[in-house]
Amino acid sequence: MRKIQMVDLQSQYAFIREQVEAGMQEVLSSAQFINGPAVKSFQSNLEAYLVVKHVIPCANGTDALQVAMMGLGLQPGDEVITADFTFAATVEVIALLGLTPVLVDVDPVSFNISPQAIEKAITPKTKAIVPVHLFGQVADMYAIMAIAKKHNLYVIEDNAQGIGATHTDREGNKIKTGGIGNVGSTSFFPSKNLGCYGDGGAIFTNDDELAHSLRGIVNHGMYERYHHDVVGVNSRLDSLQAVVLDEKLKLLDYYNERRKWAAIRYTQLFAGHDKIITPKVVRDCQSHVFHQYTLRVIDANRDELVKHLQQKGIPCGVYYPIPLHAQKAYRSDRYKEDDFTVTNQLVKEVISLPMHSELDDEQIQSIVQAVLAFLDK
Ligand SMILES: *Cc1c(COP(=O)(O)O)cnc(C)c1O
Repeated sequence: MRKIQMVDLQSQYAFIREQVEAGMQEVLSSAQFINGPAVKSFQSNLEAYLVVKHVIPCANGTDALQVAMMGLGLQPGDEVITADFTFAATVEVIALLGLTPVLVDVDPVSFNISPQAIEKAITPKTKAIVPVHLFGQVADMYAIMAIAKKHNLYVIEDNAQGIGATHTDREGNKIKTGGIGNVGSTSFFPSKNLGCYGDGGAIFTNDDELAHSLRGIVNHGMYERYHHDVVGVNSRLDSLQAVVLDEKLKLLDYYNERRKWAAIRYTQLFAGHDKIITPKVVRDCQSHVFHQYTLRVIDANRDELVKHLQQKGIPCGVYYPIPLHAQKAYRSDRYKEDDFTVTNQLVKEVISLPMHSELDDEQIQSIVQAVLAFLDK
């Protein structure tokens, strides 16, 4: 059996090595390291894949979120609602821009932001909602878009974990995540479903005016060379990373299908166990791309299970062990513990098992056996 890894970037690389190396060689010979043809090619291929009018590549997923918020013209004091149970980058950029983060609880089944909790948190200062398609599952965009419309709020999708997932709207139209709200962001960190070999990110929108604004912001607020109209940042995707991404984009649907296969296999093997809640796909199977396969462990010591797996040489992760509202940097008097009953429970129960496009059946079986050996002892 091949060594089990949380993500297996070596095997993935072996499969695309020739094409990636040839593309990189071309960039090296042309010396067009920044904004070269490779970046333009990837940008237009990603626009076509997502069926979105504008992709603005940038340096990483955190910048993508920050620039999206800058582009919408959010001002200090504006309140931005997001999930308590997510990676810190989401709340970090809200705070960094002087906006007021308002963290709310999540749904126990999908792990995604709770529409009821969003409604409860809306005040006259609320300007935007940031749903995260956590672990690769589309957030409840029916409800979120309806709330946004009713209260005239922007929707910024943090799609760092959900690229390739599909949302079916009320009219039955299929829309790729990142293109549902006013603006979407993603990360190309190596372990993401579409990852490069360093840092990278992108912003998506169907709004021409916003796209123009975002293109200037990522380039020092320049819309005309050396004319700085707004305060911007320097955030670029480099050509070498674009080569990798362009190659991997061709395989993204295949990668996501492999992840779904692995998820279904895990779920079959864990079926009916009374100490495990397997992840639920809330809508159709297109709505989950399994960035993580995350179990809830009930009536058992999750931390001991982590240790047990580590001893067996099986990697696993706890995403996320501390709710954001309890993090030193993001505490606020506005929060009451009662508002976060689901997140407070999830942080004690969740464990993410190895999940990537190269997992095979033998590996999955041995991971499941190791989990069950602990729970059934
Ligand atoms: C990875 C991630 C980010 C940040 O992406 P970077 O490219 O690492 O800056 C933001 N939000 C979520 C939900 C993520 O998983």
